[in-house]
Amino acid sequence: MENKKVAVIGGGLGALSGAIRLARLGFSVQLFEKNPKIGGKVNEVVLGDYRFDTGASLLTMPFVIEELFDFAGFTLSDYLDFVPIDPICRYFFPDGSVMDASADKTKMKAAIAQLSPDDVAGYERFLKYTERIHDLTAEIFMFTPIHEFKKLMKPRHFQTLFRLHQIDPFRTVHQSVSRFFSDPRLIQLFDRYATYNGSDPFQAPATLNIIPYIEYGLGGYYVKGGIYRLIDALETVAYELGVQIHTSAKVEKICHDGRRASGVQVNGERVEADYVLCGADAVVAYNELIDGHQNRRDKLNRLEPSLSGMVFLWGVGAKHAELAHHNIVFSNDYDAEFKQIFKHQQVPDEPTIYIAITSKADAGHARVDGENWFVLLNMPSLAPEQIWEKEKDRMRSVVLDKLRRLGFDIADRIEVEQVYTPEDFSELYASNQGSIYGISSNSKATAFKRIPNRSRMLDGLYFAGGSVHPGGGIPLVMLSGKMAATLIAENHESKISGLC
Ligand SMILES: Cc1cc2nc3c(=O)[nH]c(=O)nc-3n(C[C@H](O)[C@H](O)[C@H](O)COP(=O)(O)OP(=O)(O)OC[C@H]3O[C@@H](n4cnc5c(N)ncnc54)[C@H](O)[C@@H]3O)c2cc1C
Repeated sequence: MENKKVAVIGGGLGALSGAIRLARLGFSVQLFEKNPKIGGKVNEVVLGDYRFDTGASLLTMPFVIEELFDFAGFTLSDYLDFVPIDPICRYFFPDGSVMDASADKTKMKAAIAQLSPDDVAGYERFLKYTERIHDLTAEIFMFTPIHEFKKLMKPRHFQTLFRLHQIDPFRTVHQSVSRFFSDPRLIQLFDRYATYNGSDPFQAPATLNIIPYIEYGLGGYYVKGGIYRLIDALETVAYELGVQIHTSAKVEKICHDGRRASGVQVNGERVEADYVLCGADAVVAYNELIDGHQNRRDKLNRLEPSLSGMVFLWGVGAKHAELAHHNIVFSNDYDAEFKQIFKHQQVPDEPTIYIAITSKADAGHARVDGENWFVLLNMPSLAPEQIWEKEKDRMRSVVLDKLRRLGFDIADRIEVEQVYTPEDFSELYASNQGSIYGISSNSKATAFKRIPNRSRMLDGLYFAGGSVHPGGGIPLVMLSGKMAATLIAENHESKISGLC
């Protein structure tokens, strides 16, 4: 194959999955990651006797990973063990009640019946409704590069395009969830799924109610050994296929002549390439790596970043049987929490607290009588007036106080600690304003406004990762890598057969 060199920017999941596919297709692939380790927002650290995943903690749609392994010619089960999680999450509500959510329909209905018997029928209807949204939208919004006119205009997509009104785009997530449930606790529980792609349930279109279907209909998983094992496995596959992975290698520029990308500049050296696959945040790439194109930059800078987060990693020298692998301690006023975050770009006074404890599944992740707590709070993306050093101390007290009132008095049991603020996410992973899922889906047209997988500005430049179509989260960024790799391969094919 002529002209087959690809430079891949970043070692996140979108870039990695694209790199693997391209290598399998015969391209010569070099991947450049600025950090000493690949994985991006899926990462791990060891602090004393405790081991932590630092980013993603719940895996959905594992078939996306399986398909990548199949494509690459590897057997997934030789590398990874996906463990279904049950309960998927334990919810602690403001009134003191607790509920275990499960993908097992019978268990879930029983849990809802205990909380609010009148809402069991609503749950049945809600599941059907979310499944309908899934069936109508998944193919087109998750598996198709919708900005490619020829791919969008396939007869099998017409049905969806003509039935767009049926995917509930005009109500918000909260408005729709409230139609199915009467109990405010259940409304809060199902509203929460908007945060899975970093959005606000009180603004985001109800089409995002596809997300509960993905969790309850298709299941939630843990990767045995920790989510970072996924990166280890993909790194092995990439090496086997000949991808050259360079770490501590920051791409400083995407080289171009105004019309076509021709390579990258890394640590002062120019690396020629026929195609560039950018897995770094595309908004940051347009701001920092691509000269010219000011109009495009201005337009992208107007897109609203997704939620950011504050993460506390705590090695806790005590066991808590009352906590599950995944736990949510809800705020008293969800609406106020999201107003502070999205409308006022403020740190919420009383945030919802998410706690994931992988030592519940992998005892070796903590010392024998301890637990490894990953604590995540919803946060706004970076705003100039926030002083994160101060905020992280304030939030630490707020969280520990609230947990103490719930009966988890861990303040004096924390043996090791590491904290990540939105500023850290911005610096560590070069994410746009510290956002953790790319662009928010708060606007009705977000699906179409997302950055395409193929650059309109520069030939030969393609994008993968949470900031571009189809969006953030493990499975979606891996699909973005698939779309970008497929588009590169198709472009290459048509070039060598003289079609363009
Ligand atoms: C705290 C947290 C919790 C999350 N929880 C979940 C969850 O439970 N489930 C889920 O599915 N998803 C979750 N996510 C989201 C998920 O982790 C991300 O959507 C996904 O990992 C992002 O992948 P990406 O391809 O966009 O690359 P990223 O992870 O953003 O990686 C981009 C990489 O590019 C590198 N880079 C950037 N610029 C350059 C440059 N100029 N040169 C070289 N390298 C560069 C960065 O260092 C980084 O390694 C979570 C994320 C966070 C942060």
